[in-house]
Amino acid sequence: LKINFNRVTKTPKVFELTLENILFSGKLYQKKSHQVILEGAYNGLLSLHCDRCGIAYQEEITSPLVLRLTDEISGAKDDLDIIEFLDGIIDITYILQSELNAQKESYNYCNDCSNKDDIEIEL
Ligand SMILES: [Zn+2]
Repeated sequence: LKINFNRVTKTPKVFELTLENILFSGKLYQKKSHQVILEGAYNGLLSLHCDRCGIAYQEEITSPLVLRLTDEISGAKDDLDIIEFLDGIIDITYILQSELNAQKESYNYCNDCSNKDDIEIEL
């Protein structure tokens, strides 16, 4: 799902996207020149692998997501909540995919393992 940056106005534009059993919905609106706000939430069943025993399992996730998007170089490299789309195309699929990948790359434990006492969860 891609939306042209220049087509987003101050009137919120709603979007909805499903990826890997996750529904991502929300709205986009222009905050100021070269800056668009994405306000949304995603929920669904995420397929994960347990970092302890290796089995595949699914976990229900639900999370709000608020991001600032820009079509120019923001200059704020330490600001993690701003995402640059320098070609002027907002790629919502990419945003969701990045979120899901971040979840998958963190430590995940299946129900059996997370109920055991001897786990050290490293942050
Ligand atoms: Zn496990």
